[in-house]
Amino acid sequence: MKTLVLYLFMKKQLLKFGAMTFTFVIVCFSVFTLSACRNKDGSGGDDFDFDLEHYWGNDGYSNGFFWLAGDVHTHSIHSDGTGTMFENFAAARAAGLDYIGIADHNTASGWQDAVIAGRYHNVIPIRGIEHTRTLNTIRGTGHAIFMNATVGDNFFSPDTTIHEQIAAFRAAQSINQSINQSTGLVYIAHPFALWPIRWCPDSFDADVNGIEVWCGIYGPRNIATVRAFRKWDELNNQGRRLYGIAASDKHSPDRGNAPRTIVRTTERNAKGIADGYRRGHMFGTNGPKLGFQVGSNIMGDTISANGTQLVNFEISAEYTENLSKLFVIKNGEVVETIELNSKSFDGNVELEISAGDFVRIEVEGFEGNGKRLDQGLTINNLAFFNSAPFAFTNPIFFD
Ligand SMILES: [Zn+2]
Repeated sequence: MKTLVLYLFMKKQLLKFGAMTFTFVIVCFSVFTLSACRNKDGSGGDDFDFDLEHYWGNDGYSNGFFWLAGDVHTHSIHSDGTGTMFENFAAARAAGLDYIGIADHNTASGWQDAVIAGRYHNVIPIRGIEHTRTLNTIRGTGHAIFMNATVGDNFFSPDTTIHEQIAAFRAAQSINQSINQSTGLVYIAHPFALWPIRWCPDSFDADVNGIEVWCGIYGPRNIATVRAFRKWDELNNQGRRLYGIAASDKHSPDRGNAPRTIVRTTERNAKGIADGYRRGHMFGTNGPKLGFQVGSNIMGDTISANGTQLVNFEISAEYTENLSKLFVIKNGEVVETIELNSKSFDGNVELEISAGDFVRIEVEGFEGNGKRLDQGLTINNLAFFNSAPFAFTNPIFFD
């Protein structure tokens, strides 16, 4: 009897203790889950101090800013890529990148791995998804990069049109904005790639931030890239403010990360990078560096024009090999070609400017040794490796 009472007492105490332990475990788990969610939201570990190595300082305005190199269009085993996040981030670090955006088709299921791999390899991870709707015979089809996307893994669907998906994304992002998160961005991916991944011709009115004008499966002067640049200029001539990005669209770790986008940021984290993208403070390149400014305004900025006036543009270009040509492009037309035969250029160009104009720069290197500017998609995807040097800035706009 005594034993039974003792047993019942102990059982009660054990149950009580068990319940406390259970509660404690639940509380710990919630705290852990919540802190994990902070990274899941797309912040990319904004509180982590990445040991980055590539600051592409441009003379005159590098003070207080970082120029970070990266690639927001990469695939992994979470969709149709062959690399794990760890392999992709190791390759990005070896290629000298400071950030990479994950962009698996319709899923962000690799994000947790990306956060850990990014910290391990000191490459900032950017949460993203490539919305993929493959039929291109109807409006609202094509691929789009959703960058810094703070939405759930199952938010995107191949059954949803680009327009519907962007509208839902903007709505979700504005809710996130109210809890102090950084902005999500949308870019049309490889608009003139081959069917079935090209952008539907009547979908260019979609509410995007810009266009992947140079996708790494094509060389910079391949017709697919040339048409993307032309469409970009055409849309900006219609009064849009679209920014151009360059990304690899790599599906295996060993394909390098060319081309890449160099962005000016004030913070070395996903939020800073997204803010730089949102402002168009960036240039695309497979090597050459470009600087482009009017006073303290840089590529991507908008300056107000008073009537028609002469504006002085400061331009710089630099590479490890000789560059061949630099183009000054106003409203989509080449207005000045500067012949180069040197590793660097520093100069000024004066142009007559009115409201509505926009000016951007391109630079080319020499072809040869198997390197060409018009490489297309081939069996070995040579455009990744064998493109001759090329870089382009975002426009400076006038209104
Ligand atoms: Zn892709």
